[in-house]
Amino acid sequence: MSLDKWLKDEKAKSSKVNEQKAKQKTGSKLQKFILKCGKSKCNYQKTLMKRELSESDKICPRCKSKMKILKSS
Ligand SMILES: [Zn+2]
Repeated sequence: MSLDKWLKDEKAKSSKVNEQKAKQKTGSKLQKFILKCGKSKCNYQKTLMKRELSESDKICPRCKSKMKILKSS
């Protein structure tokens, strides 16, 4: 294996580890929320990955009515 290729591989490995670390740090406490607009005419739906929902997250961006939380895990 040439030195250039070896260096490249090492670099790729370390950046992958950093990625995983970052994922673990932010991923552990995140929850998945599925929100759906309460108005059947609108039916707007969105998925959020957050620690917790803020009040503005519960407002439908399309019709400004309150959204229902379908699922959180
Ligand atoms: Zn709506």
